[in-house]
Amino acid sequence: MVDVRSQYLKIKNEVDKGIQEVLETTAFINGPKVQEFKAAFQTYLGVKHVIPCANGTDALQIAMMAVGLKPGDEVIVPAFTYVATAEVIALLGLIPVMVDVDMDTFNVHVDSIQAAISPRTKAIVPVHLYGQSANMEAIMKIAEAHGLWVIEDNAQAIGANYIYEDGHLAKTGTVGHIGCTSFYPSKNLGCYGDGGAIYTNDDALADMLYKIANHGQVVRYYHDVVGCNSRLDSIQAVVLSAKLPHLDRYCDARRRVADYYDKAFSRISDLVTPFRAAYSTHVFHQYTLQVLNGRRDDLKNWLEENKVPSMIYYPVPLYQQEAFKRYVTPDLRLENTEKLCASVISLPIHTEMTDEQLEYISEMVISFF
Ligand SMILES: *Cc1c(COP(=O)(O)O)cnc(C)c1O
Repeated sequence: MVDVRSQYLKIKNEVDKGIQEVLETTAFINGPKVQEFKAAFQTYLGVKHVIPCANGTDALQIAMMAVGLKPGDEVIVPAFTYVATAEVIALLGLIPVMVDVDMDTFNVHVDSIQAAISPRTKAIVPVHLYGQSANMEAIMKIAEAHGLWVIEDNAQAIGANYIYEDGHLAKTGTVGHIGCTSFYPSKNLGCYGDGGAIYTNDDALADMLYKIANHGQVVRYYHDVVGCNSRLDSIQAVVLSAKLPHLDRYCDARRRVADYYDKAFSRISDLVTPFRAAYSTHVFHQYTLQVLNGRRDDLKNWLEENKVPSMIYYPVPLYQQEAFKRYVTPDLRLENTEKLCASVISLPIHTEMTDEQLEYISEMVISFF
């Protein structure tokens, strides 16, 4: 699905040299390399504060702790997402309220958010699934009307731009109150282990986020709030600093793959190629098709027989997962989420794909139909 090794070989000198430096200086945690990356990432995002942390799941958890959510508070989250988004809500004793997504963008459905708001609702977590922004202006409007926090799960859309109605751009994750991201190796900006970051333009929130990620302390051994331990390793910061200058090029390389697939599959009436919303650029963390003839699993098997990797993101709605059943009524059915779980399939997409690979994969998909 990805080729992290070929990408590494192209930045090997810089990465190896930086890691060697970390080893020599032994500044393994929160050293100068982390500060360097933090500054560069702030500039790239055009955001005032980046707080690096240990992974994307922690980023979401710390964000929810920082806005002062209390047990029993409700947080609205799409039912069609990676488990982490809802998991941290439950972990903090909050109630995940799962809502449906749009069939075209796969992102949270704005009217469903509106319908799910109760007096206990405190926050909305839009997920920019597969690399494209949710409808942020509409979401911010609802949030403002009801005094809700908006925490963006930007783990899959690093590098994407939200396009405002008036035409100006902002990086995804910087439109809401807090953005959260993951540097898991296969993410669009991935390190060589676990890593994550939280970002915000709000000074007071930034102080709180930093504090919570560092055991609730600013001055060592003086703990103002209950926090956690979530840090980015210096070695991971080296990798991220080496990759960040290439991120826009990486996004272009992914878009080239998506354009190729779009064209190759345009005549297959049983496939829906990814929709591109007017309010977002798309960085194609995943290239995800909908199979309309009910034979998604047969297609997956066919591809496997022909040595083409494919993945189902995600096969089961969150509310049908054993872990989340207690948070929902047994009769909850979200039509679009269920349709998508049964019909989506993601094809290999990464920065190092060759024309031969694209041709072979496309041919295999087409020959199935
Ligand atoms: C990867 C991912 C996360 C979690 O990131 P980790 O670094 O693996 O903890 C959260 N949300 C979404 C949508 C993701 O894709």
